[in-house]
Amino acid sequence: MPTNKYADVGGVIIGRGYPIVVQSMTSSPTQNIEQTVNEIIELADAGSEIVRITVNNIKAAIAVPIIKDKLISRGYKIPLVGCFHYNGHQLLKQISDCAKSLDKYRINPGNVGFGNNRDKNLEQIIEIASYYKKPIRIGVNWGSLDKTVLDSLMKKNAETGYKKSDQEVLREAIITSALSNASYAEKIGLPSHMIIISAKVSRVPDLISIYRELYFRSNYALHVGLTEAGLGNKGIVSTTAALSILLKDGIGNTIRASLTQSPGEPRSNEVQLCLDILQSLGLRNSRPSITACPGCGRTNSDYFRKLAQTVEDMITEKMSIWRQKYPKVVDLRIAVMGCIVNGPGESKHADIGISLPGDGEYPLAPVFINGKKCYTLRGDNIAGEFCKILDNYVENNFSN
Ligand code: SF4
Repeated sequence: MPTNKYADVGGVIIGRGYPIVVQSMTSSPTQNIEQTVNEIIELADAGSEIVRITVNNIKAAIAVPIIKDKLISRGYKIPLVGCFHYNGHQLLKQISDCAKSLDKYRINPGNVGFGNNRDKNLEQIIEIASYYKKPIRIGVNWGSLDKTVLDSLMKKNAETGYKKSDQEVLREAIITSALSNASYAEKIGLPSHMIIISAKVSRVPDLISIYRELYFRSNYALHVGLTEAGLGNKGIVSTTAALSILLKDGIGNTIRASLTQSPGEPRSNEVQLCLDILQSLGLRNSRPSITACPGCGRTNSDYFRKLAQTVEDMITEKMSIWRQKYPKVVDLRIAVMGCIVNGPGESKHADIGISLPGDGEYPLAPVFINGKKCYTLRGDNIAGEFCKILDNYVENNFSN
């Protein structure tokens, strides 16, 4: 059940019980204003609802309000999160336009300062956040964990006869760092619904165990992501495994995929991965879904794959218009199948489906609409005709 308290991040709601929000982060130096603006727009167009940018020096902090204005002038009201390490308290204080322009501050308790300065620096950031009514993410990362918390728990473990493994103590230190900093922020005056917690690690079993603990031991909204997930398939599979298990259990209110891109690969791929995970889990649809069989020796696989790709390309091309004219089109289910074995059955389960003629079958492609066979296509232009039928289906069934 959604609570009546939530964090309003520049108009995007984050809270337990509210729709899961997809986030991403730019990779360009923030002071490179045009590059950063373009990257934010690319991420927003891909479906990112919040974008985090690095604010690591004065030039970056000065650039923030300029970036915000440029985005608005190009029609983008996407909320921006400032990512601070080490000097966030100074930058937010010195450049008040930066503090005002950002919609959320992300801080890392492991590096808000050291020794006695630590609490003072954190206090300063929380006070600025309270003044401007900005939510905060307390983002612990095991690559930059507060050493004092870890050392103290390790010492306690040694004193009690090493009842816990080092890995268990490390997980406990991550959880303790997140929760103790969050309750300190509350003590200074930031309401609990304005605090979002993340505790990122790069191993899937550890991440799952840590987030389960955070979920049951607190009421804070949780930002979930597998940090430094890695390259290629490894990054995609690990992120999907971790996020799916947690999200299916209702754990996670905002998500991010931290993939290491290959040179030339767009950063927006991580946004697409988050959207695909949510859609696969049936949590939130962002575009029509296509069920397609893999094809096999029974089918003319080249033609079959071309048809599936043509339908996918058509959706990509039409999506920005469809989204505006027919917002519910994201729930459309399409089947593109290779032969009579599973083709008609799968097509009947979809809203609209086509089953191509497999090898040795009659050269006919039945089209099913809402479970009934409505057309039979044949000849050289099956793909073109099916796309036309699909377009009409959307117009007739998804107009308000
Ligand atoms: Fe092969 Fe037909 Fe099954 Fe597709 S539906 S995988 S073509 S048997």
